[in-house]
Amino acid sequence: MSKAFNEPSFRDGVNLMVDRAIAVMQLEEGVAKAIKSCNAVLQVQFPVKIRGKIEVFTGWRATHSTHRLPSKGGIRYAPYANQNEVEALAALMTYKCAIVDVPFGGSKGALMIDPSQYSRDEMEMITRRFTLELIRKDFLSPSTNVPAPDIGTGQREMAWIADTYKQLKPDDINYVACVTGKPIHHGGIHGRVEATGRGVQYAVQEFFRHPEDIKMANMQGSLEGKSCVIQGLGNVGYHVAKFLSEEDGVKITAVIEYNGALINDEGIDIEALRQHIDAHEGIQTFPSALFVEEGAQVLEKECDILIPAALESQITMANADRIQAKLIVEAANGPITFGADEILQKKGVVIIPDAYANAGGVTVSYFEWIRNISHIRFGRMQRRHEEMRGMEMSRVLEEATGHPLSDQIRHKMSRGADELDLVRSGLDDTMRLAYQEIRTTMDNDENIHDLRTAAYVTSIQKIARSYLEIGVY
Ligand code: GLU
Repeated sequence: MSKAFNEPSFRDGVNLMVDRAIAVMQLEEGVAKAIKSCNAVLQVQFPVKIRGKIEVFTGWRATHSTHRLPSKGGIRYAPYANQNEVEALAALMTYKCAIVDVPFGGSKGALMIDPSQYSRDEMEMITRRFTLELIRKDFLSPSTNVPAPDIGTGQREMAWIADTYKQLKPDDINYVACVTGKPIHHGGIHGRVEATGRGVQYAVQEFFRHPEDIKMANMQGSLEGKSCVIQGLGNVGYHVAKFLSEEDGVKITAVIEYNGALINDEGIDIEALRQHIDAHEGIQTFPSALFVEEGAQVLEKECDILIPAALESQITMANADRIQAKLIVEAANGPITFGADEILQKKGVVIIPDAYANAGGVTVSYFEWIRNISHIRFGRMQRRHEEMRGMEMSRVLEEATGHPLSDQIRHKMSRGADELDLVRSGLDDTMRLAYQEIRTTMDNDENIHDLRTAAYVTSIQKIARSYLEIGVY
């Protein structure tokens, strides 16, 4: 956070962006207030005995909205975690779910902890204890509040959470749906790990299907060959960089990590870099790029697309003026502060906002939750049927044309969709439709000039409808 510019907190920044959207809408003041307010915040402190000594941990779970249930959102493990951040992130979840038509309320949790300081067994003990607190206080169940991974957590933590819930609520037939982002063998869904990165890729692809938007960002042509700077090579950054470079021909000209950055204008091989990081625990010695220590400065490097995929408040009033990217895609939550957003807009930089761009994670969480409560994997009923129909079609085609089909074509035509195919197709459809909705909102209102405001207006319209239909009681 850039203290010199006295910028608002993360939570206030999100509210200011929402206010900017509400200002162009005809919305009753009370409804706007109801939508913006955070329904409940739980703070817990609990002791855990670590290496013979008692340590007290602090955690939060904020439920921003319950107009749709369950309320949904990740749990973050970070030493800097705090209530303001959790509330901001919970609010973002409300708007995000509405944008992509995921019928959930918004929630978020965090535990103040540096996971690198604890062993696997200690992390398990702490996570199970935190879960117990959430269950006891009614902040975790398949029908009311469903966590997921976020920074510092992953499949491992989600499996511990699900198992703790199961032990405490053995008669809940839907226990496995109490959390998403689980390992495949514990009720997870194919494609959840890559989902947020995949969603960002689909968002960028959809952007490049709109010639007027490409022009708005002062670019030309297709996605292929565009230069891209990525900040953060965690789960989201890694997947988006990998997919954009390997599948769409984007050149990743810089990767920024917390301890420096790598630059190569010819493009960085993301898979090679990932393997290097795993083997050497850092980017410093990666041979095929230039290492620079001042990572943050690389955000200012000239490029077509800048993708912040790390933490919030990375582009602030202190550096926004120097950003040279034409398009910024917010893969992280809240990487651009409110003040920076205004500066970038004036400069003509186009921003694909977080509440839309990184909604792939919660979208696939929704698919996982449905899979869990319906107790059946996607594709189980229809896959072989589709396969048979495809085979029949190829046979008819061969008969009608008198030409045999190549093995490749026959295989393509007759392959029934498996779970991963269906998840990707559902996610792609979701991201395309949501973008088109946001775009229509912008086209229909001459007072809306940016995608963030358009996204919030689209989202708030849907939430307001649900408040007004049900009524306030
Ligand atoms: N933590 C992710 C997010 O910020 C995913 C939330 C979820 O899947 O519930 O969107």
